[in-house]
Amino acid sequence: MDEAYWDKEIETIDRHSLQQLQLERLNKTLERASKSQYYKRRIPAKINNLTALKDIPFTTKSDLRNSFPEGMLAVSRDEIVRLHASSGTTGRATVIYHTKRDIDNWTDLVARSMYMTGVRKSDVFQNMMGYGLFTGGLGLHYGSERLGALIIPASSGNSKRQIRLMKDFHSTVVHITPSYALHLYTLFQEKGIDPKNDLDLRIAFLGAEPHSEETKLRLENLFGLDAYNSYGLSEMNGPGVAFECQLKDGMHVWEDSYILEIIDPDTGEGLSDGEEGEIVFTTLKREGMPIIRYRTGDIAQTYPEECPCGRTHRKISRIKGRTDDMLIVKGVNVYPMQIEKVLMDIPEVDNNYLIEIETVDYLDSLNIKVEVRQNIFHGGIKELESLKKRISEDLKNETLISPRITLVEPNSLPKSEGKAVRVVDKRDRDV
Ligand code: ADP
Ligand code: ZN
Repeated sequence: MDEAYWDKEIETIDRHSLQQLQLERLNKTLERASKSQYYKRRIPAKINNLTALKDIPFTTKSDLRNSFPEGMLAVSRDEIVRLHASSGTTGRATVIYHTKRDIDNWTDLVARSMYMTGVRKSDVFQNMMGYGLFTGGLGLHYGSERLGALIIPASSGNSKRQIRLMKDFHSTVVHITPSYALHLYTLFQEKGIDPKNDLDLRIAFLGAEPHSEETKLRLENLFGLDAYNSYGLSEMNGPGVAFECQLKDGMHVWEDSYILEIIDPDTGEGLSDGEEGEIVFTTLKREGMPIIRYRTGDIAQTYPEECPCGRTHRKISRIKGRTDDMLIVKGVNVYPMQIEKVLMDIPEVDNNYLIEIETVDYLDSLNIKVEVRQNIFHGGIKELESLKKRISEDLKNETLISPRITLVEPNSLPKSEGKAVRVVDKRDRDV
């Protein structure tokens, strides 16, 4: 019989043993980290229980930037075999160093995650994430090889070639950003390809950017596959930090390798299971560059219930957004994800949209450009008006604000092959 787990012992470890393992590994991590310039005066030599972790200061993105390039390096440079850098979505890039064992551990986490979704040796995996400093390409690449699937290192971009590869080699699994997947579907339509019937795709890993449940369901329906949410960040290796199991109801965080905390982003206080806040991670196995209590800026909550899949590692919800992408429009807090959720739930809305904010007469003005289906766009003016009204009402219900809606033709808004830029903030900052 096909084994359900990649590493049954660790994936189904009881919570008590898991916490013991975490404490052991945390103390090892503190010992290693104290060799780095940055941590040597900031952390205790040892702690006696996991709750004492909260007395250690957070590490932030700016700490990483300020200690660039080698301030957090905890081993001699000779031990380092690879570096990766974050894509710099929110500022200057940061660098992460890996030893040989770090790469090995990361690879194992990715293989474990992929296996959990049902990927097996017989699969053909087309990895459509950028290869290079970005971790989405190489991270999944080595995990897939360890699992034994056939990998096509397609990297991102070149949509025509992507489609040809899918057809020629009968790809069954893809790794793709949700925004690019939506765009790719438009190209399939232009070429008269029905991905449900003309291709062999059965699994997609969606990651690297926040996306709503509605987008994921839309993609599952359009492509006829199971989509799994894949979450990671370069500071914690990259992909393979948290992944959905086949129940697709939250992502298991691999707690043998990371300590997960959720904090109130304003006060830094720890929150309980089920409360929404900022994710904070501590590496437990990293040698080259251990990172302690890293503030990810990503907003989520934990699901306290046990998962029927048998894995004991806690699950987190999908990422609602980053603390730094929350928009404050006329004093109301709005996450772009709330807007996406509304739009992707309306069938007449096509697969792309853009949020623009500007200052008009000293006031914030929120404009949302929405691509609508071809037949709607060229249909009657009455239909367009009523669609516009529906979008406005649904947005008002979800976000309490009334943006200006512009309906545009499919394929007319800028598209991206990597992380999508969904928000353009043109506000005048001096007023
Ligand atoms: P950068 O911070 O420059 O974008 P990374 O490539 O390390 O660099 O990106 C990690 C970030 O991408 C995460 O902190 C998170 O905001 C986002 N991200 C990654 N995977 C997901 C996902 N599945 N859902 C939502 N956001 C994600
Ligand atoms: Zn599960």
